[in-house]
Amino acid sequence: MRCPFCGNTDTQVKDSRPAEDHVAIRRRRYCPACAGRFTTYERVQLRDLVVVKKNGKREPFDRDKLERSIRIALQKRPVEVERIDQMISGIVRRLESMGDTDVASDKIGQIVMETLARIDTVAYVRFASVYKNFQAADDFEEFVAELRPNIPEEDDA
Ligand SMILES: [Zn+2]
Repeated sequence: MRCPFCGNTDTQVKDSRPAEDHVAIRRRRYCPACAGRFTTYERVQLRDLVVVKKNGKREPFDRDKLERSIRIALQKRPVEVERIDQMISGIVRRLESMGDTDVASDKIGQIVMETLARIDTVAYVRFASVYKNFQAADDFEEFVAELRPNIPEEDDA
C-alpha cells in the first residue's frame, strides 16, 4: 500500500483488527520513509456495481462518493463515526444483494433516504431536500456540491 504522504510503496502494517462488527478489517499502517501513519479498511466486495444515471450514463459505483454525501448530511449531528461506517456498509451490502450489477442512481438515493430516516431526522431532511433538486442534476458530485451550502456553518443556537 502506497504511503499517501510521500508515495513510498514499502509501508508496514502495525496493527490489524476487526471493525464495524467484523464486516471490515482495519489496518494501521506505518511508513518508514516519512514516519507517516494511516489507516486502511479491507471489506468484502460481492460484486462490482455500476451506477446507471437517469440520462443513461454508466459509471463504476464509488463508495467514497456515497460516504461523502452521507457525512455531509450528518455534519455536526450526534451520530458516532462507527455508526456511520456501519450504515454505509449496510447500504452497500443492500445494493450488492439486489441481484444486478447495474443500479439506478435513483435507487441509491432512495435507500440512503430510508436509512437516514431511521438514524437522524435532521440529516434525513437535509439529504431529502437536496435530493429533490438533484433528480434533475442526476450527478453525485453536483449533488454533494448542492448539499453543502444548505448546512449552516455553526449549530443552531
Ligand atoms: Zn511516507
